[in-house]
Amino acid sequence: MKHIAIFLMLVTSAISAQAALNVQKVTDNVYALEGETTQRSPTNFGNNSTHGVIITNEGVILIDSGASYLGAKELHEVIQTITDKPIKVIINTGGQDHRWLGNDYFQQLGARVISSEKTRQDQKIRTDYHLNRLSGLIHESLDGTVPFYSTETFDEKMKLSLGDVNLELYHFGPAHTVGDIVIWMPSTKTMFSGDVVFNDRMLGIGPARNAQSWVDVFDKMAEFKPQHIVPGHGRASDLATATKNTQQYLKFLIKKIGNILENDGDMLEASKIDQSEFHFLSGHQNIAGRNAQWVFEKMEFDY
Ligand SMILES: [Zn+2]
Repeated sequence: MKHIAIFLMLVTSAISAQAALNVQKVTDNVYALEGETTQRSPTNFGNNSTHGVIITNEGVILIDSGASYLGAKELHEVIQTITDKPIKVIINTGGQDHRWLGNDYFQQLGARVISSEKTRQDQKIRTDYHLNRLSGLIHESLDGTVPFYSTETFDEKMKLSLGDVNLELYHFGPAHTVGDIVIWMPSTKTMFSGDVVFNDRMLGIGPARNAQSWVDVFDKMAEFKPQHIVPGHGRASDLATATKNTQQYLKFLIKKIGNILENDGDMLEASKIDQSEFHFLSGHQNIAGRNAQWVFEKMEFDY
């Protein structure tokens, strides 16, 4: 009986791992693990996010460690279907839960954990908020999660090498969160953008709430002319797709809100702007109005 129960548990966890994370081969030795584009839930362990995987001859670099201990374990299990090499480096691209709350799982396996200094501060400030919110959304799937902050940080730029792979890490300014970074892999022209790029689902302006800075950060990232982008959410893509899904939407909001401010309009008007041209992005029903309000709030303050 006990054996049957354990067997069923293993089968169930294998099914949920397969269902919740889609493995996309981006280019040689580079993969995107794409989580659901819906809300955090007990079955996705909070991993409603996309994660980058780089396989080097000395081990694996994982970009963003998942939203929970079990979420990290799930990422690890999926990585083990691609390679048997150990996870050597974790990079947190930002301060949101799914970027870092799996750090503890991987540091126990001996991985280095790297982020920008601003992200580390952001993680510390928002730890309680994240844990409270997650416990309401993923319940017992949060079990075992212990906050573990990055042990290596940088302000603006860092070079990182593991085996035959060289990476450049850049913090260009606030985008989705205050400490967001992008990771450039010159040998494959791949950009791991974290939440600087949202594909397939509509971005949320918060928590940094600075749409203009996000546009500027996107521009700096685009200067590298990446051939592949592994985003923070949704499928890996090229630059044109990322521009359409993320930057054009940000610019659209800035322009529309700018017009409202010039005509002495108010926040109510902002929340009513017609965003139907971006309804191809999932989740717009829940976030579009709030995005407009947040951009209005910031632009009115700066006006
Ligand atoms: Zn995110």
